[in-house]
Amino acid sequence: MAFYESMVSAGDEQAFRTGAVRLMDRLCELGYMRRLSRSENDGVIRLKYRNLLTLDTVSISLEQLTSERTSGAGPRATPPESDASGVHEPVRGRAEPPRAAMTLSFLRTVAASSRRTDLGGALGYLYDLLKDAVGADRVALAMSRGLINSQATNLTELEDICVSDEDDQIAPPAVRQQVESTGEVLSIQDIRRDSNHSRQFPRSASGALAVAPLEADAYVYGTLAIWSSRNYAFDSNSVAVLQFVAEFAAGLIKRRLEVEELIFIDQTCQIHNRRYFDEQLAREIARSKRTGNAMALLIGDLDDFKSVNDTLGHAAGDSVLRQVGKILSENARQVDIVARYGGEEFGVILPDISRESALAVAERIRSTIAMHRFITGSEQQPAWNLTISIGGALYPLDAASKTDLIDKADRISLYRAKHLGRNRVVMYQDTES
Ligand code: GH3
Ligand code: MG
Ligand code: MG
Repeated sequence: MAFYESMVSAGDEQAFRTGAVRLMDRLCELGYMRRLSRSENDGVIRLKYRNLLTLDTVSISLEQLTSERTSGAGPRATPPESDASGVHEPVRGRAEPPRAAMTLSFLRTVAASSRRTDLGGALGYLYDLLKDAVGADRVALAMSRGLINSQATNLTELEDICVSDEDDQIAPPAVRQQVESTGEVLSIQDIRRDSNHSRQFPRSASGALAVAPLEADAYVYGTLAIWSSRNYAFDSNSVAVLQFVAEFAAGLIKRRLEVEELIFIDQTCQIHNRRYFDEQLAREIARSKRTGNAMALLIGDLDDFKSVNDTLGHAAGDSVLRQVGKILSENARQVDIVARYGGEEFGVILPDISRESALAVAERIRSTIAMHRFITGSEQQPAWNLTISIGGALYPLDAASKTDLIDKADRISLYRAKHLGRNRVVMYQDTES
């Protein structure tokens, strides 16, 4: 939104402002903007909005004309002023204001994409729009490493739309890295002849490339790149369109991740919660059915956890649960899903895995927790030893459905009580024999 002013070409100024007000009001309805104030003085209406994604303030002034009602043309905008004319301060690293302005209809179409509830759909829509607007042969969105590596993020929707195969990327890793770390757009007019960057591309690469950061609130989620086989295909206007779409897309991603954090993250342990676990388990079972590869479920129950609370208090209990969540995440593979299943019970979903490997993961978690000295915050008992008992079962080898799989992994509680004592790993198959 901080970008509207640079899209105004002199000739379009009046229509732009009137249109901008309409667009702002629509964005308010959609929950992206909030109107802060409206004042009227000497026939000039001043409107102030807050962009709820970037927290920028957007001010627009309109001259209320008496002819408005008779002409039916709607409020006409003030002519450009030198001081309060505009819409807000420029942002670091922006491209030159484009000569040929983006049209209001383009902005409207972008805003309309935010009405879509699925992130993948909205981003896909933005791709097509971007491709058309700048005449790109290809568009690619790449997630930043930090985002890929963050356990506590539901990236399934983003994964669907991101280019994950490095061979299919249009910007090489070094270029994306530069854009992510500087937060500035990079435009390469001729890949072969660009003295700073040509070495970062494969020999066969040619054409023009522009890459913008997907940045919202100083966090870079990744990059958005456009490529054309024609050298010098992207002028400053194209780069401005790319920046605008990247800024908008980053806002959508940020908002979605915030919502997902509320829905899917357990606040005590800072890992995924039961709701996420259930969704992902269904997804992984469906995937296993499709691929024919086995997947495993581990359910861990902390032994005698109640005594932590009884001895040290609930706050220390919470802290120990958080430390367990961390150990689980650190001992799982990148593709595994770690979640808090219940009070002091944890679930780990292991896609594409053999019985031996699942047992090895469970054993590693068990022994790491058994060896760990948990920090308690208590002066009398600064460290606490804790153990976990883990049950495991595989789909489709041990169980025929999701509920069956949970049931069979969860039998650890029964077996532990009956035969085995604590600090054990028991795979379902072994409980049967
Ligand atoms: P067992 O070895 O048989 O599993 O015994 P246990 O004490 O681990 O299990 P039990 O089911 O008897 O008690 C679970 C305890 O976990 C009691 C409950 O207060 C505690 N608990 C559950 N959720 C939380 C939480 O969010 N924070 C804290 N501090 N404690 C919790
Ligand atoms: Mg329990
Ligand atoms: Mg327990």
